[in-house]
Amino acid sequence: MSSIDLHFHSNASDGALAPAEVIARAAEREATLVALTDHDCTNGLAEARASALELGLGFLNGVEVSVTWSGKHTVHIVGLGIDPSNAVLAAGLQSIRDGRVNRAREMGESLAKIGIAGAFDGAMAVCDNPEMIGRTHFARFLVASGEVKDVRTVFRKYLTPGKPGYVPHQWASLADAVGWICAAGGMAVIAHPGRYDFGRTLTERLILDFKDAGGEGIEVASGSHSLDDRHKYALIAQRYGLYASA
Ligand code: MN
Repeated sequence: MSSIDLHFHSNASDGALAPAEVIARAAEREATLVALTDHDCTNGLAEARASALELGLGFLNGVEVSVTWSGKHTVHIVGLGIDPSNAVLAAGLQSIRDGRVNRAREMGESLAKIGIAGAFDGAMAVCDNPEMIGRTHFARFLVASGEVKDVRTVFRKYLTPGKPGYVPHQWASLADAVGWICAAGGMAVIAHPGRYDFGRTLTERLILDFKDAGGEGIEVASGSHSLDDRHKYALIAQRYGLYASA
């Protein structure tokens, strides 16, 4: 039973609800402290903050930065308590967003090659903020068009490494992402470590690189974690002296 949720998205990135709507839902669930952490953008924060204030919820400005670590692994780093007007952070996030649209075009082309036409336009049509186009929007389009039965299946069949619609992309470096968050006065947190499928050695390397860059926290409770994962990452947080996030 957690009343703290420091990782969720609005339609400013790939969430389904407007910032005020997702905050209202958190209030219904009796959350006491929340952070909106949209992918690579901070557009939703002002609306979310106003809504949290109105509903009496504690609110932290957040963001989730896409990182390519160790050459090939995509890792997400959450920033909490950031100043979204910080120029270093704003420029860094802009550079990531610029890469998204180009990648989405390539994804559309690669899906067309296996007979799925119109995926780029279709994904754009279900994306509220064209700069934030991503795999989730392609997944929603493919489900809505009847091509695939659900979002999970789309990712498994088309949108993960080695599959026909997957386009590798270089996101920010780990050191840059953590540096931008720290420059903006925030605390950097490794998002949903249980999702990365790293063994013990790689997990340890990630944590040490992250700490070297100035990172301070790791998600322990997450919608992507089983109860076993929670236990595992709680112990890891203790062992490496990281704050636990939820
Ligand atoms: Mn994430």
